[in-house]
Amino acid sequence: MGAAPSSAAPPAEQAAPARVKITEIFLSIQGEADSVGWPTVFVRLTGCPLRCQYCDTQYAFYGGEWLSLDDVLGKVASFQTRHVCVTGGEPLAQKGCFDLLQRLCDAGHRVSLETSGAIDVSKVDPRVVRVVDIKTPGSAEEARNKLENLDLLRADEQIKFVICSRADFEWSRDLVRARQLTDRCTVLFSPSYGQVESRDLAQWILDERLPVRLQIQLHKVLWGDTPGR
Ligand code: SF4
Repeated sequence: MGAAPSSAAPPAEQAAPARVKITEIFLSIQGEADSVGWPTVFVRLTGCPLRCQYCDTQYAFYGGEWLSLDDVLGKVASFQTRHVCVTGGEPLAQKGCFDLLQRLCDAGHRVSLETSGAIDVSKVDPRVVRVVDIKTPGSAEEARNKLENLDLLRADEQIKFVICSRADFEWSRDLVRARQLTDRCTVLFSPSYGQVESRDLAQWILDERLPVRLQIQLHKVLWGDTPGR
């Protein structure tokens, strides 16, 4: 006769602790968006499914180090800084990013998220300020735009266009007007570094009376193209 089957429930499967793959965590001055100028801790997650032609963070495509969320929170806390920006790469390409954003908010940080606009942003913690790109034709990744993301944005969040040419400007201008994006939230136009002069973009915005904000990347004015700044 065999042993009687045990009536005890099998042990619950332990959920693996959340972790994220990190390229770098560093303190700098926020160079973009509404929080420009604030001392900010940047948490750069590794990997991106896009390949924008102007990408200045290609070093974040590969490599990186797996860290537990506790370790990331600890490292962020060591900088004793309120503002935190979660960026990439494309941070939302990692499932653990959603928990990371929540944990950073729980810890009392003011958290912003820089995302390509190619991944659903609906599950992001509502305390996070989302800065969502719209990829222009000049980026070579226009087909990745998930425009339904735009309907989710609050007035305190931002939409960002990186403008690579006059043609990109006109495409972006037409989209802003057609979808009335400036009624929804702040729209940022940023010149692609080395491709469009800031002064030209400023004049195009003024000529069109376009209610968008010119954004010049402050960190590049301060430190050029140095990674980790
Ligand atoms: S989405 Fe951002 S990180 Fe990814 S390729 Fe484009 S610019 Fe680079």
